[in-house]
Amino acid sequence: MTILNADLHCHSTVSDGTLEPEALAARAKANGVELWALTDHDEVGGQHRAAAAARALGLPYLSGVEISVTFAGLTVHIVGLGVDPDDPQLVAGLAHTRGGRERRAREMADQLAAVGIRGAFEGALKYVGNPELISRTHFARYLVEAGVCHDTHEVFRRFLTDGKPGYVEHRWAALGDAVRWIRDAGGVAVIAHPARYAHPNPTQEYALFAEFKAHGGQAVEVVTGSHSSAEAARYADLALEFGLAASRGSDFHSPDESHCDLGGLPYLEGRLTPVWELLADRIVH
Ligand code: AMP
Ligand code: MN
Ligand code: MN
Ligand code: MN
Repeated sequence: MTILNADLHCHSTVSDGTLEPEALAARAKANGVELWALTDHDEVGGQHRAAAAARALGLPYLSGVEISVTFAGLTVHIVGLGVDPDDPQLVAGLAHTRGGRERRAREMADQLAAVGIRGAFEGALKYVGNPELISRTHFARYLVEAGVCHDTHEVFRRFLTDGKPGYVEHRWAALGDAVRWIRDAGGVAVIAHPARYAHPNPTQEYALFAEFKAHGGQAVEVVTGSHSSAEAARYADLALEFGLAASRGSDFHSPDESHCDLGGLPYLEGRLTPVWELLADRIVH
C-alpha cells in the first residue's frame, strides 16, 4: 500500500545527525511515522539501538545504511534497506569506505586555513560522534559556530563543494560493490535523492539508473526532503520506466538544520510500487 507514512532515510549521531538513535525513534513515533529506517552514512553501528528503540515504541523498523559511491566522477548515495547489520562483507565494505575520511578532513582544514579559517579540523571534530565518520556536515557546523556563515546551507553555497575552498575530491565505493554488499546482506538497494546529482548530461543519469539496475539495484527515492514536487513526479516516471520500486524518506539530520522533519513528506503516488512491498519479511515488529 502506497498510503503509508514510511520514513526510510535519516541520520543519527553515529554519522552526521545531531540526535541519538533512541531520540530519533521517539521523534519518528511522535510525528506519526508508521515504518522507520535509520540510514547513517557508511556505518551500521546504530542499527541495533535503533531497532530496539523502535520495537519498544511499537514502531515497525527496517534496518538501513547510506553508502557513499563514486560514479563517473560524481558522489552518489545508495541506501540499503533491510540489510543484516552484522553481515561480515557489508561491515568490512563500510569500514573500507569510511577509511580515508580523516585524511580528507585534514586536507579540507588545510584548504580552509589557506583562506584564513583556522582550527577547522579540531573545530569539526567537536561535533563528531563517531571519529571515523568526520564529514562535511561537521565542518559546516563549525563554520557556523566560528561566525563564518549564518547557517549550514550558506556554508555549502560558499565552501566545501566542488570549486569552493574546503572541497577535497574523494574516491568512495564502486556502485557495483555497494549494491552487492546490500543485496548479499539480504537488503534492497535504493538510489538516494537522485535530483541532487549534478550529472553533466541526461545520458549520464540514464547510465546511473541502467548500471544500478544491471547490478541488481531495485528501488529509487522518489519522495525525499530534497525533492520538489516536480522532481518527485519526474523520478516517479523514471522509476516506472526502469521497473524500480519507490522509496520515501526525509533525510532528516537535525531539528535545527533540516527543512523536512521525520514523517513530514507527501505520500507516494498510487501508480508506484513502494519499496516496503519488497521488504515485508525484513520488517522488525
Ligand atoms: P560527506 O559525506 O563528508 O561528503 O558529507 C556529505 C553530507 O554533507 C551530506 O550527507 C549532507 O548531510 C551534507 N551536505 C552536502 N551537501 C549539502 C548541501 N548543499 N546543503 C546541506 N547539506 C549538504
Ligand atoms: Mn548527511
Ligand atoms: Mn545523501
Ligand atoms: Mn542522507
